[in-house]
Amino acid sequence: WLRLPHRRNIPVELCAGPDVPLEPGAVDEVLALLDTADTLDRLAEATPGLTGPPPRITRIALTPDFHKGAGVPIGTVVQTEGALLPQAVGNDVNCGMRLETTGLPVDRVRPRLAALERRLRHLFFEGGRRIALRPAQREALLREGLPGLLHTAGADWAGLRPEDAADTGRAHAAAFPASGADAFADWVRGSGGAGHDGIIGGVGGGNHFAELQYVSAVHDARAAYAWGLTPGTVVTMVHSGSLALGHQAGATALDGLRSSWPAGLPRPRNKILPFLPGADPDAPASRALRRYLDAFGNAANFALGNRFFLSLMMRRGLAAECGDPAARVVYDAPHNLFWQDGARTVHRKGATPAGGYAATAGGPYAMWGEPVIVPGSMGAASFVLRGLGNARTLASACHGAGRRVPRGATARAGDAELDAFLREFRVVTPLDPGDPAVARRRDVIAAWRRDLKQEAPWAYKDIGPVVSSLRAAEVAEPVAELRPLLTVKG
Ligand code: 5GP
Ligand code: MN
Ligand code: MN
Repeated sequence: WLRLPHRRNIPVELCAGPDVPLEPGAVDEVLALLDTADTLDRLAEATPGLTGPPPRITRIALTPDFHKGAGVPIGTVVQTEGALLPQAVGNDVNCGMRLETTGLPVDRVRPRLAALERRLRHLFFEGGRRIALRPAQREALLREGLPGLLHTAGADWAGLRPEDAADTGRAHAAAFPASGADAFADWVRGSGGAGHDGIIGGVGGGNHFAELQYVSAVHDARAAYAWGLTPGTVVTMVHSGSLALGHQAGATALDGLRSSWPAGLPRPRNKILPFLPGADPDAPASRALRRYLDAFGNAANFALGNRFFLSLMMRRGLAAECGDPAARVVYDAPHNLFWQDGARTVHRKGATPAGGYAATAGGPYAMWGEPVIVPGSMGAASFVLRGLGNARTLASACHGAGRRVPRGATARAGDAELDAFLREFRVVTPLDPGDPAVARRRDVIAAWRRDLKQEAPWAYKDIGPVVSSLRAAEVAEPVAELRPLLTVKG
């Protein structure tokens, strides 16, 4: 634990082991975030008719994969009272990890990997997706999440089962009711605009993925059993967000904040602009806040749906090659989101919830705490832990091992290393290097290899020390370790 002193006595605590390096740029961003406390004071003075408690930042927690972001670091949790900070959520609203068990033994899947690779390439990248949503279904998804889609489309539509909506709903981010979907009218109509022409189920680029893994070790047999993570079981892990919709929700927030900012009040140096709820409902800032909450809810619902459909395509691939999986969601864990409870808001940017028993009353998590999904890389172990609800991290943990080196700096890593990695692990991308027509294009193959090196195991930190710091700090306890078999990368 490291505690940053500050003149306003806002507790700032960093949970990191000795082998987790601290970036000075990220610490500067935290200090800038603390300046927002002054902004809140000034904004409150300039805003007539505020109700509720005086707006303030009450606590900041930093996770072990804490690193520089654009304004607010990745791995930051901010608790406020009477204020909402859209920039403390991250651009990719409701980016998260979804984990499903399949019930299939790894021995059944391993011999079929070559066929699975072809099938998943077709499903994800070669028009095999076929999940066409009608405008009414798109709107229902954006306004009411998966339950809304189930209601409009009917059970079994495209493989959506009532238990999928219910299981996702039990997870930390159920559904985000929105009064409309005005910000995404283009997407609802299917006239494109927000990313991908009304089609859902895109992986997104870079660090996003859909991965086939198996349970390679169990550290807490009882919790692992309860969650269906028995040794040798194949699981799917999906990392994706709201694609272009989240960015648009963030832009809606900033437009609204800029245009309603009180005349004569200087904008903060760090460009972090707060919303203060509870003011005059007809004031421009209140209207802007309502517009943002709708756009935020739409994007968050879209992300839950997108993760579901990515998992569904993994199920379809497995069903075609290895036999029908008995798929069950272990958890859907969002890491770019805020949660409101009365006047209090917890914002997580690149941090995952790690609630303890109390956070999960009822349901399959009550006994063990909340499942905490910490991916490593496409060539190294990922972990599932159980949250302990530690108040010092605001019941949060890191959402990954984190990058070892910034994007761009890994491009020169060795070719021999990349080849060794590709011999051991399968990577499915939109480009098929096994296709002879592609293989002849040496410039295309070189670019493909350059991109893969950015995402290869050596580009990410070793997950061992990250998991150890979570454990030592009593944030979360390891339950199971997962090894990758095949990774789909956008
Ligand atoms: P981030 O949003 O921090 O870039 O990504 C989350 C985390 O996912 C990274 O910190 C990294 O540890 C992990 N990660 C990135 N790519 C992959 C992948 O292809 N497979 C797995 N299992 N983990 C990954
Ligand atoms: Mn993410
Ligand atoms: Mn993302």
